[in-house]
Parts: sequence; structure tokens; C-alpha cells
Amino acid sequence: MKSAAIILAGGQGTRLGFSHPKQFALLGGRPLIDYSVEKFVALRVNIIVAVLVDDYQKYYQLHPAISTVAPAGKTRQESVYNGLKACPNDTEIVFIHDSARPFFPLKNVEEGLKLIEKNEFDGLAPVIPSTDTLVEAWGRQVISFPDRQKIFRTQTPQIFIFQKIFQAYENLKENLKDCPFTDDLSLAQAAGLRCGLIEGSQMNFKITTEVDWHLAEELLSSGGLEFI
Ligand code: C5P
Repeated sequence: MKSAAIILAGGQGTRLGFSHPKQFALLGGRPLIDYSVEKFVALRVNIIVAVLVDDYQKYYQLHPAISTVAPAGKTRQESVYNGLKACPNDTEIVFIHDSARPFFPLKNVEEGLKLIEKNEFDGLAPVIPSTDTLVEAWGRQVISFPDRQKIFRTQTPQIFIFQKIFQAYENLKENLKDCPFTDDLSLAQAAGLRCGLIEGSQMNFKITTEVDWHLAEELLSSGGLEFI
């Protein structure tokens, strides 16, 4: 089936404190975004769409496997919509991925792809269990302790039937600035799509803070990524 990968690299990544967006910073000597590009090359997707900040050329020389560049939106969801619009009309399956997650396991994603191809789901996200006790709170005030067996943390890449997720975004396009969704499976679920889960990986953490960055460097240099 014809597939596309949308790699989101349209954020400013300011929480890391670098002078330029983290997705272009060199991790183990290579731009962070390129790790994701190469994963999708290994998955043999037909098209790779990178959603990039306007001035990306100041920081980044495009990886040759990137087929199309789409402009970043003001929010993550606007960036996803721009990425979807940049996919060819005959795309059947789309992966939506945060460039801040360089270490996703190919095996699990391939299993997810099979489930989508068999039409068992419209959308799937990798998840990891919550190992800490979870607490719902308002400031310091405890509200409740949700059952952690039932709560998972979603990751990317999330996999969708292209036309279904595109339609869900089209329906929301006037409200993407203010919509509450922080990933695509939550938006898909709200749109009534058949949503499911696949196994994620602890190695597939989102590089957000300085600690994450150092951990990623350490994993690369110590060979720890074998555990993916
Ligand atoms: O901000 P957050 O960590 O949720 O961002 C997740 C991903 O979405 C990152 O890869 C970031 O570059 C991307 N993003 C984007 N456009 C935005 C905001 C975030 O592509 N306007």
C-alpha cells in the first residue's frame, strides 16, 4: 500500500535551551531529525514529508530522503494538517511522527502496519505502561489516584488510514489552534475512528529536556540502543 511519513520538526524546542531548534541540533554528530528520516527509509515508506520551521535552511541541510517540505503551523496540530495536505492524494497509509523521538523500534511499527493493512483499525499508537503511581491534582491539591493499569503513555509514530485521519483534520481545520489534542490518536478517537494500541518502547522517549539530550548521547555512545 502507498505510504507516507510525516515527520514533525516545526517546533521551536526552546525547553532544551539551545540557540536553535533542537530537531536540527547534532546528536552523536548527526541532526536529530535525521535519525527519524532514516527509520522511515528502513520502513520503505514511499514519501517522507518533513514539516519544518520557515528558516530551517539556516540550521539544516535537508536529508536526501526527504521528498517534500511542508510549513510548520503555530501549533503541533496545524503542523500535522500541513503535513497531511502535502501528502500525495493516492496515499493509503500515513505515519505521523515527532522528530524529537529518534529511537523508535521498527519491529513494533511493522506489526502495527500489518494491523492497519488488514483493516482492523483506522489508527494505532505505540504506548508504554505507567510504572509510577499516577495522581490527578489541582496544584498541590490531590483530586484522585487513577488506576495505573488502565493508563498508558502514547508515543509516535502513530499509524493511520490516510483518508480517515485527513478527513478528521479537515473537519477540525477551523479549530486546530485551540483544540485540546496533544497527539493524533486522541484526535482520531474524538472523530469516531477505530483506534488501537501497539507496544511502544522506553527507548522511544521524546527528547524534551537537557537530561533527555544527555541520555540520548549516552545511549548512542554506550551501545544501549541494542535494547530497542
Ligand atoms: O511541543 P511538543 O513536544 O508536543 O512537540 C512535538 C513535536 O511536534 C516536535 O517534533 C515538534 O517539532 C513538533 N511541532 C511542530 N509544530 C509546532 C509545534 C511542535 O511540528 N507548531
